[in-house]
Amino acid sequence: METIFLKKLKKKLETHKRQVEKELKKLAQIEKKALQSSTEAGTAKVEAEIEETEEFYNISGVQESLSKKLKEINLALKKIKSGKYGICEKCKKEIEKERLNILPEARSCRKCK
Ligand SMILES: [Zn+2]
Repeated sequence: METIFLKKLKKKLETHKRQVEKELKKLAQIEKKALQSSTEAGTAKVEAEIEETEEFYNISGVQESLSKKLKEINLALKKIKSGKYGICEKCKKEIEKERLNILPEARSCRKCK
């Protein structure tokens, strides 16, 4: 793989990583606030509690997918460092450039995804 292309993808991954980390931080703050307000409310209406719980689960769901994304980004960055980037984990062939351009953290080629 050409160095220029690799550098471009690395930059993309790093930007994406920062965004995901920022997003996760924000969610953690919302979660903290939600927990605080539910304790403060104490004997609030059951209905309101249910609503809050739903919101809470929503946040955990988003957090989970963001954490997963962050792991994939880190893995891709590690692979760039070790020179193993862009190889499909299943068929061991090179992943299509177009695919990497759209999804730099891709671990498999278009056929194996
Ligand atoms: Zn493959």
